[in-house]
Amino acid sequence: MRVYNFSPGPSVLPLPVLERAAAEMLDANGTGQSVMEMSHRSKDYKPIIDKTEALLRELMGIPANYKVLFLQGGASLQFSMVPLNLAAGDAPGIGKKATYIDTGIWSDKAIKEGAKYAAVDVKASSKDKAYTYIPDAPAPAKDDAYYHITLNNTIVGTRWDKLPDTGSVPLISDISSCILSEPIDVSKFGILYAGAQKNLGPAGTTVVIIREDLIGHAPAWAPVMLKYDTHVTESSMYNTPPCYGIYMIGLVLDWIKGLGGISAITKMNQEKAALFYDYLDASKLFYSPVEKQFRSLMNIPFVTMADDDAKKTEQETRFVKEAAAVGLINLAGHRLVGGMRASIYNAMPIDGVKALIDFMKKFES
Ligand SMILES: *Cc1c(COP(=O)(O)O)cnc(C)c1O
Repeated sequence: MRVYNFSPGPSVLPLPVLERAAAEMLDANGTGQSVMEMSHRSKDYKPIIDKTEALLRELMGIPANYKVLFLQGGASLQFSMVPLNLAAGDAPGIGKKATYIDTGIWSDKAIKEGAKYAAVDVKASSKDKAYTYIPDAPAPAKDDAYYHITLNNTIVGTRWDKLPDTGSVPLISDISSCILSEPIDVSKFGILYAGAQKNLGPAGTTVVIIREDLIGHAPAWAPVMLKYDTHVTESSMYNTPPCYGIYMIGLVLDWIKGLGGISAITKMNQEKAALFYDYLDASKLFYSPVEKQFRSLMNIPFVTMADDDAKKTEQETRFVKEAAAVGLINLAGHRLVGGMRASIYNAMPIDGVKALIDFMKKFES
């Protein structure tokens, strides 16, 4: 039996995508091989990576002056590559200035890593209220190398409802948990990056979308694998790319295109999220701790209203366990914040959200 998997990542994939991958497992495109067995430099593989890039460009409306890279190391390695490429000095040590906005645990990790290479200025933070809102975003200094935000905060369930105005300073964003969930105006950003395992495909691939003028600024001492220009020059094939993951992303993108592209998927996501938030807002047991204006479409944390901590923990532990027993899995909140969280990425069908709400109503009564 297939379960409804609310995992924050790696997460649910569309059933038709898994079925197609299974059908092509032993013989992809009549080549007599699995995609896993192909040389990344072969004529059989090239159309696969080319198709994935072309579909991503089409669906996201990526302008021609941006490069698309398929890398490894997760979003976490981008926490290092961004400052190393855009702000590091000619010798190891602190280079140029950069602005960061702290909206959660992932932003905080990016900040800590950035501070190894850049003179990091955290201009705003929502830590004072447990990251349940997005703070006002101050303007950067004119000479900042870049301005870093986390567009959707996977753990705390917030999202930026409008972008900061950074003038000529490149805006950089981690979009791991919201890529392709709703329209993103790529032209407003210098670099966008996302680990694939939330909304794009299996773990192991990182998508980087980078404006051309930001390529080629890494210092000579930077490791060759961590320079964007290495991967741009070699079209993501300086070394062996995550071939199978790129293929799977291609299948997911085909699926999104078949549904009607970003506008169709956005509509579905809005519908799913509205259903769930409406239920939470009306519930007498559960609630969303996130300010309405900043609520994520993808990751929805919720807690019970019990006023004593022991009771709350007991209710929440029992909830997660009983939900799993009826096939609604991975509903525990992040280990650092507790409570529950339903991640309802693109691939979560609306029936999964309805099944969760039905279960919550029963649990409540
Ligand atoms: C999951 C996640 C990460 C970490 O991604 P890895 O690919 O495991 O490095 C970083 N940022 C956000 C917003 C995430 O959701």
